[in-house]
Amino acid sequence: MTSPTAIASQLVSRAYRGSILHALGKDELAYFADGALLVDAQGVITACGSWTSLKDTLQGVEVIQYQPHQLIVPGFVDTHVHLPQMAVAGCQAPSLLEWLDTHIFAEEARFADADYARAVSEWFLSELLANGTTLASVFLTSHPGASQIAFETAARLGNRVVMGQTLMDRHAPDSLLRPTAQLLAETESLCKQWHGANDGRIQYAWVPRFALTSSEELMSGLGTLRRQFPDVFLHTHLSEQLAEIAAVKAQFPWAHDYTEVYERFGLLGSRTILAHGIHLCDEELDRLKALDASLAHCPSSNFFLKSGRFRLMDVLQRQLRLGLGSDVGAGPALSLLTVMKDAQYMQADTLVPLATLFYLATLGGAEALLQGHRLGNFEPGKEADFVVLDLPVTPVSSRMPEVHPSQDSEALLSRLVYQGHQQWISETFIRGQRVYQRAAIVQD
Ligand SMILES: [Zn+2]
Repeated sequence: MTSPTAIASQLVSRAYRGSILHALGKDELAYFADGALLVDAQGVITACGSWTSLKDTLQGVEVIQYQPHQLIVPGFVDTHVHLPQMAVAGCQAPSLLEWLDTHIFAEEARFADADYARAVSEWFLSELLANGTTLASVFLTSHPGASQIAFETAARLGNRVVMGQTLMDRHAPDSLLRPTAQLLAETESLCKQWHGANDGRIQYAWVPRFALTSSEELMSGLGTLRRQFPDVFLHTHLSEQLAEIAAVKAQFPWAHDYTEVYERFGLLGSRTILAHGIHLCDEELDRLKALDASLAHCPSSNFFLKSGRFRLMDVLQRQLRLGLGSDVGAGPALSLLTVMKDAQYMQADTLVPLATLFYLATLGGAEALLQGHRLGNFEPGKEADFVVLDLPVTPVSSRMPEVHPSQDSEALLSRLVYQGHQQWISETFIRGQRVYQRAAIVQD
């Protein structure tokens, strides 16, 4: 593991000059067609503005100049994704519960093999960086060994994650179930080892898969852990499909609704991340707002499993903390660029403002993971997590002149949302340190 001191010594103060776009809030953007992002030797942003306004302050600062077709944006935040589902993303099944049985549980069982766990962890965590994702909230498997390997890999690659061992003690194949007391001891041990590790880049989460695979004893034990470790996250699924909700009603007949199952055991609060929440009623949304929980909206996954339509505008209007999630493997790919587009297309009758989609993929996600005070945009004092995008220049031929599309911010953002693609990611930085650079494409 690289020590924080070693990382700092690799850095010098730099100014990144080019087109810069970032979100200041749900409806507010800042754009500089010729801008500068100033980052100090510790990877902290000292200023962001137009080149003209900042150029006289740059004596002794190394300037990195980007091209007219390139764009600098904050790193993307994936608020819900499964590391062990990388190899089965895009495998179709008729419903959530059948998809789990047909594809997911068998794949997750393979993580008993440490070599396989190591290979997929390396692949997944590298791919996050290649997709411009600088912070992700991640489910693992129920194996403590594979979980340990995933944390070690994240520390080595420099990922920012909120991550935890996935906990199941009922209603899954025996190979993935573990005795309740053993699970609670294992997850507490992993938490003590990894929460706050790698200079704060790694945060731990308690991760009960969902109510159906959790005994009351397990949820009660997690409620106790939440009280003992108040700054640790809890990440789970809520109200994704109607058949799932019916099964929850049957399994927990005392609960008035799905939300009450988690509420009863003290699992809901400001460090709770709830994936999906598609079929929540008004009263459940109001209770989640009062409890200050965060929601992760995963439209690509919701399309894939035909889960239903998330009440995006109702959630925004209630000002719940909300981010976007790729939900790989029910989501087909890790790119938050395509998730933004799917979030737009998911709303049949409402045009979601482009600025709001961009906010949700960056600052909103950071706020949903309670890290908006130090990540998510380019306000001075925040840590420099950012992505450099190559926007396609057409036509791509040495015999024809380049055509540069409009540099107007609204046009740029619209292209980003509707045409954005993983291949546009050129470089990814976390705390001022480059963690990904696309290999050069050799052309004739
Ligand atoms: Zn999920």
